[in-house]
Amino acid sequence: MIDKLGDFKRDYFCGELTENNIGDEVRLLGWADSVRDHGGVIFINLRDKEGIVQIVIDPSKSPKNAYEKAKKVRSEYVLAVRGRVQRRPAGTENPKLPTGTIEIAVDELRILNTCDILPFPIEDGIHAHEEVRLKYRFLDIRRPEMMKKLIIRHEVYQATREYLAGHGFLEVETPMLTKSTPEGARDFLVPARLEKGKFYALPQSPQLFKQILMVSGIDRYFQIVKCFRDEDLRKDRQPEFTQIDFEMSFVDEEDVITVSEGLIHYLFKKVLGIELKLPFRRMSYTEAIERYGTDKPDLRYSLELKDITDIAKDVQFKVFKDTVEKGGIVKGINVKGGSKFSRKEIDDLTEEAKKYGAKGMAWIKINEDGSLQSPIVKFFTEEQISKIKGIMEGQNGDLLIFIADTYETTHRVLGFLRKHLAEKLKLIPENVWEFVWVVDFPLVEWDEEEGRLVALHHPFTSPKEEDIDRLDEAIQDKKIALSFRSRAYDLVLNGEEIGGGSIRIHSSHVQKKVFELLGISDEEAEEKFGFLINALKYGAPPHGGLAFGLDRIVALMTDSDSIRDVIAFPKTQKGICPLTDAPDFVQEDQLEELGIEVNIPEETA
Ligand code: ASP
Repeated sequence: MIDKLGDFKRDYFCGELTENNIGDEVRLLGWADSVRDHGGVIFINLRDKEGIVQIVIDPSKSPKNAYEKAKKVRSEYVLAVRGRVQRRPAGTENPKLPTGTIEIAVDELRILNTCDILPFPIEDGIHAHEEVRLKYRFLDIRRPEMMKKLIIRHEVYQATREYLAGHGFLEVETPMLTKSTPEGARDFLVPARLEKGKFYALPQSPQLFKQILMVSGIDRYFQIVKCFRDEDLRKDRQPEFTQIDFEMSFVDEEDVITVSEGLIHYLFKKVLGIELKLPFRRMSYTEAIERYGTDKPDLRYSLELKDITDIAKDVQFKVFKDTVEKGGIVKGINVKGGSKFSRKEIDDLTEEAKKYGAKGMAWIKINEDGSLQSPIVKFFTEEQISKIKGIMEGQNGDLLIFIADTYETTHRVLGFLRKHLAEKLKLIPENVWEFVWVVDFPLVEWDEEEGRLVALHHPFTSPKEEDIDRLDEAIQDKKIALSFRSRAYDLVLNGEEIGGGSIRIHSSHVQKKVFELLGISDEEAEEKFGFLINALKYGAPPHGGLAFGLDRIVALMTDSDSIRDVIAFPKTQKGICPLTDAPDFVQEDQLEELGIEVNIPEETA
């Protein structure tokens, strides 16, 4: 029943045919997207990567052999078709198909392969469980929307190479089997057979190598590169993901930002035909936190945070007053039109706030008639209320919500509530690209768990020039260290960080001091990053760079819910690949060769 391909070659992809081909004899190869038998005449939608075209096997016109074969065709059989392109009879056109005005009258049909019963239909917008889609990823990718995403991803690679190579960047590969790199996540380890007991680490990024390439005089480096981070996969993360990574010598922040903007502009223009307006806006880290509650502000909607700490310190309401007395703050959001929220909706919002660490949420409803409804207004004077309304820009019909807590918690909770409210109230416009550079990050932050200062970006990020001379003071006094700003920059698009980088430390002396500030001992620094510190001693030029998250950018460009949708073979949230069943156990002798004994604690075995 299976025919041979032989020397059969396609003339066109199905989706390429147009009315200009009418009258041509064409050979096509593809999959049976659907089969319909209309009283003897068989219609098959033939699909390949470029689209679909209808083929017709009419027993009164096509050869008998082709008709007999056509009767056997089922969904996703692989077919070779030779026939003539003809106009569809008037009234039978399909406006939903780009090829909907033509069809192929079949002269020869070969069945090159059959197909088992499908686990889900090969079409867009299916509701199959993601694990099933990943197990049958070969079928999932056959669906046009998935195919399109991979094509866009391909175009992003090509355009990236064009742009960066065109701007003097040299593509250099860096090793996958390497030593631990410093992005602050857990490493994936690979046992070394030739050095039993030793391990390679998969790179969390090429950070150290790209800096070393600057010391080598490469001047401008780039790479589209896999990075590996063994993090918890909650949210939209993958253990392996792809970066557009680059580094430049003799530059400052402006140079790196200019190249980054140029690249993003080129990608959007080339791949989506969208002309972005440059330069992107900029915002300091502090402004982002204080106005939007996050360092990844989504600027597609307003719902800004407003500060009423000054008034809250004098009110009778104990929660507000005590918080301010203890050094905390009180801030709020004006939910425009929110006076129509039911009690249940407000309670739900309070629960949401608690999820993110708030102890509670205060609120004031300004009814349409101007009257107030709130469990707390009785503790406020008229004057205080009117001041609060002023700051919050509260008008009739609004709902004002407040969080009173520490600086960090108040902003974090309101940042989440802001996002939650924007989604609930459908305030997020479609097809809007709001880019913003977040700059002037603190150099370090206090890590409660580790009981030490940690770098906000990574330990190779340079402090601002004016702070470098004060590193010794900062080593003595944590407060001074916390006031230092770094030369880092992040690019945020629609509330998602799509890239980040910094001007680096290029002096081994300064680098040592920063390690000291971070509580990394000389021995530890030497053991972990000795090769970089060594390289910095040999004429390292000033340098800086950035890495873009390619998966995230393609996900945003293709309006995908998850980066998994733009990765050909992603892992599930549990880090599993349902297609291959990786990770898996290995043979006893493989372990022996590596000198490894597996000891699984009973509760996880
Ligand atoms: N290596 C950094 C990262 O992976 C990016 C950079 O600083 O260039 O986030």
